[in-house]
Amino acid sequence: MAKYKARSNFRKKNSAKRKTTLKHANFNKREREGKLREQGGQCCYCFTGLNHKTVTLEHVRARSKGGINHRSNYKASCEACNQLKGNMSEAAFKKKIKHPAVTDPFPYWEAHIRRRLSLATNRSCRNIRCYVGIEVRQRQYADC
Ligand SMILES: [Zn+2]
Repeated sequence: MAKYKARSNFRKKNSAKRKTTLKHANFNKREREGKLREQGGQCCYCFTGLNHKTVTLEHVRARSKGGINHRSNYKASCEACNQLKGNMSEAAFKKKIKHPAVTDPFPYWEAHIRRRLSLATNRSCRNIRCYVGIEVRQRQYADC
């Protein structure tokens, strides 16, 4: 009997643990997908197209720099940008992948190329949509 009780307690403890982690995961998933929808399905740094499997939740202000776990501090980004940014500030990272220095490590150049390619692709798609008449041209995009 004692043995059975111990086992059932163990099971209870474990199932409670599983529930809390699952709840947390669901919450994250909802946040991630909400942010992704807000950003039009693109990474906030390199504008690569993302889906519900490839999106990661990015802390704009890193947790190690005093950033909080709140949706105001979240953005959807690709995993590569998320890892590369680390605890850098948003402005510094954007500047770095927009204009990387010759001495910057290769991953920054990769992000730079990814960004340029995505911007060019988006612009071409927009041009086609305007040409076909699905979309109305609003302004010239000079941020590439
Ligand atoms: Zn990215």
